[in-house]
Amino acid sequence: MSSEHKGSCLCQAIQYRITTSKPIGYTLCHCIDCQKVSGSTYAANLFILKSDFHLTKGEDSLSTYSTSATFSGSTLTRHFCKTCGSFVFSTTTSSDKLIVLATGCLDGHPEWKPTQEIFCSHRRAWLQELENTKRFEKMNPGRNRAKL
Ligand SMILES: [Zn+2]
Ligand SMILES: [Zn+2]
Repeated sequence: MSSEHKGSCLCQAIQYRITTSKPIGYTLCHCIDCQKVSGSTYAANLFILKSDFHLTKGEDSLSTYSTSATFSGSTLTRHFCKTCGSFVFSTTTSSDKLIVLATGCLDGHPEWKPTQEIFCSHRRAWLQELENTKRFEKMNPGRNRAKL
């Protein structure tokens, strides 16, 4: 059974809902780009199918920033609110079926927990150990997102 969750940017111009029973992945990324884009020390990225993501308000309020200077070489496009600057989600050329949600914009507290941490070479030393996450210095070498 799939569950539904809602999310929004800080100013509420952008609103969405997701319908997914089990996300494809939930990754904490400690890379420098994620630190800068989140204004924090890591990004909490939830991977879901694009077909499970429904933008309900604010398509005109989205702005994007793309970079191909990524570890995988694929182009990553981050989607923001033009007004309040919230980083809402990313899309990647490595899979047109995937969307990567910035979970800080999810409302409430869905029960999912991160299962892996990547780019731990940039992980802050004061951050506590997390139970049940696999940690990788860079990307997870066993994972090929291009297959999705
Ligand atoms: Zn906003
Ligand atoms: Zn990152």
